[in-house]
Amino acid sequence: MLSENIERNEVGELCFAGQSIRRLAEQYGTPLYLMDADRIRANCRMYRNAFRESFGEKALPLYASKAASFRQIYRIMAEEGMGVDTVSPGEIHTALRAGFPAEKIWFHGDGKTDEDIRYAVRAGIGCFVVDNETELACLQAEAKAQGIRQKVLLRITPGIDPHTYEAVNTGMVDVKFGVPIAEEQALHFVEKALSMDALEVAGLHCHVGSMVFDEMVFEDTVDHMVSFMKELRDTLGYETKELNLGGGYGVRYLETDKTIDIPARIRALAEHIRQRTEEAGLPMPFLLMEPGRSIVADAGMTVYTVSTVKHQPGFKNYVIVDGGMTDNPRYCLYKASYTVLHESGHEGKKETFDLVGRCCESGDILQPGIKLPADIKRGDLIAVCITGAYNYSMASNYNRLGRPPVVMLEQGESSVAVRRETLDDLCAMDL
Ligand SMILES: *Cc1c(COP(=O)(O)O)cnc(C)c1O
Repeated sequence: MLSENIERNEVGELCFAGQSIRRLAEQYGTPLYLMDADRIRANCRMYRNAFRESFGEKALPLYASKAASFRQIYRIMAEEGMGVDTVSPGEIHTALRAGFPAEKIWFHGDGKTDEDIRYAVRAGIGCFVVDNETELACLQAEAKAQGIRQKVLLRITPGIDPHTYEAVNTGMVDVKFGVPIAEEQALHFVEKALSMDALEVAGLHCHVGSMVFDEMVFEDTVDHMVSFMKELRDTLGYETKELNLGGGYGVRYLETDKTIDIPARIRALAEHIRQRTEEAGLPMPFLLMEPGRSIVADAGMTVYTVSTVKHQPGFKNYVIVDGGMTDNPRYCLYKASYTVLHESGHEGKKETFDLVGRCCESGDILQPGIKLPADIKRGDLIAVCITGAYNYSMASNYNRLGRPPVVMLEQGESSVAVRRETLDDLCAMDL
């Protein structure tokens, strides 16, 4: 199977994290997000152990919580000793409401408002990742007004090509995030930050993209960042204490996708950083990375019930389900690939269908051109695999559809982490 937590039991039922999809669908209804908490914990431990092995105590993995943000996730991250990345007061508030320690929260974003900055400083979050000089000035003013010294990392654009899909590429020179090393822009950015007495410049941040599979992408990034760190030391006398290399390791959505041995990659990366900093005569920085997708993607599955099947001679065949782009907009956004399974798994005749949603939008496609049983019918269950990242967190209420619940599977038990939105929830903000 695609992932260890997807299998069929002895009577052929499709199971996720050891539990029958059919039984979970009966208990909680569909559409239904399932999250395998044991898998999330295992992924955190993989990063924590690899970091400890490779960097000793001088490193911390942060979970980029935009991938999936709700209270129980932050509770798990606290228990697993992870830091978290956030990009809005909403994510910070959710983390705090889950009891997540403020000092282990990093705050990202290229468009933080004055209100966001005030909120986050007041909340006592550990570190701002400052995107640009405008934010720098606003944050200096706010920290001063609140009488604190705020720790910051400065977001730098190293100018490298991660060879991923364009919409998830953030490290090339011409992107909307961070300040480019090119034309001494980043140098001036750091110089300006160092002149601000209410800010403690702990170091640098960069993030080159998502769904990174290429071996050398992080190594290339390190080369650019270390040579910039050397420039900072030589011209400003500034020593970078912390280096955050961003997130982005790719995950397998299809059987044919590559598998990445993340611990091995991290060990090789650590060796590369050690070499480069040594050559540059710099001390080894405290190392941060911020994986999102590779922590939660394979912990998720979405279960739907088939509403309608259309066999259209001379045209495409459609399977229409009770969810769609509202709970998973990733095919619409990026042409994202998914593995789709029919619950029965029967081995009879197959046909090609587009799996589509119920929204009034012809682009509402979950996955085109997939093989499903020719006799698929209303009431059958469909599972879309590897939906733990950027599905629930990107969900909308388009067509006034309520968002599905998130049900956590842990140690053979299930419990609701986010309840299903009711019809009244949909009117709750209307005056
Ligand atoms: C989205 C994002 C991440 C996480 O990326 P993944 O591909 O989910 O690992 C990390 N850092 C920053 C700055 C991001 O924007």
